[in-house]
Amino acid sequence: MTYALANVDGRAALVQGDLYYDLETVSGGALGPDPMLALAQPQRLAALTEKLGEHASAGRLSEAKLGPPVPRPRNSFAIGLNYQAHAAEGSMDVPDKPLVFTKFPSCLVGPRADVELRSEHVDYEGELVVVIGPGGKDIPEAGAWHHVVGLMVGQDISDRRVQFAAKPPHFDLGKSFDTFGPTGPVMVAPSAVDPSQLRIVTKINNEVRQDGTTDQLIFSIPTLIAYLSRVTTLAPGDLIFTGTPEGIGAPKGQFLADGDVITTSIEGIGTLVNRCVRITDHGVC
Ligand code: ZN
Repeated sequence: MTYALANVDGRAALVQGDLYYDLETVSGGALGPDPMLALAQPQRLAALTEKLGEHASAGRLSEAKLGPPVPRPRNSFAIGLNYQAHAAEGSMDVPDKPLVFTKFPSCLVGPRADVELRSEHVDYEGELVVVIGPGGKDIPEAGAWHHVVGLMVGQDISDRRVQFAAKPPHFDLGKSFDTFGPTGPVMVAPSAVDPSQLRIVTKINNEVRQDGTTDQLIFSIPTLIAYLSRVTTLAPGDLIFTGTPEGIGAPKGQFLADGDVITTSIEGIGTLVNRCVRITDHGVC
């Protein structure tokens, strides 16, 4: 069962190669244009994907205006220090339990959106993002993958000054400025890739800064789903940013600057390309 779902100018679209197909059109109106409703129907997405050859494509993905594949999750979780080498580079202890924070859903933007810098201390974190399909409470680890509808590339953009302005640090705030959550370019079915062996590469202006694989995750995706669902009922479309490998900018003072281009790739899923634009200071700290 496989599919790739995109958000083309607010409308759900199925993707094959570089071509996209409007979901409402190819489903004969059975499925509407809202990506949030589409992702609750993975079996239908897979069935329609098998028959895309019978339809005319609506255009090329590379030329489309793309929004975040999951534009309005109810919750958007993120995990800090989930790669050993990343914890070490920040001189942080590896947590005994997942370090959970939220990226406010209002920070989400599409795969080619500009990232707005409001200080000189903004950093990048390339990550694999999990999308919850069927929701649930107290999900056992063994069955956790049945609750995943898709995988995306994500950037957990972080203003380090704001993140560590309070003690203990308030991760949420520093990582939730508007535009701090590029995701996409598509949401692929988990069966389309091997989620335990995905290579995540982040480049700044074509210089490789991060190059890690998901086999280095300290807390696996099933562990995270089981852990979170003990506390909160997971809902269709909820996101989990699963943590970033080593190579962030802060330890070397290599923060993002006006005009920098962040390129984040996960093999089998796709690439985000986000340009940094320096705007007014936030004045938070
Ligand atoms: Zn992160």
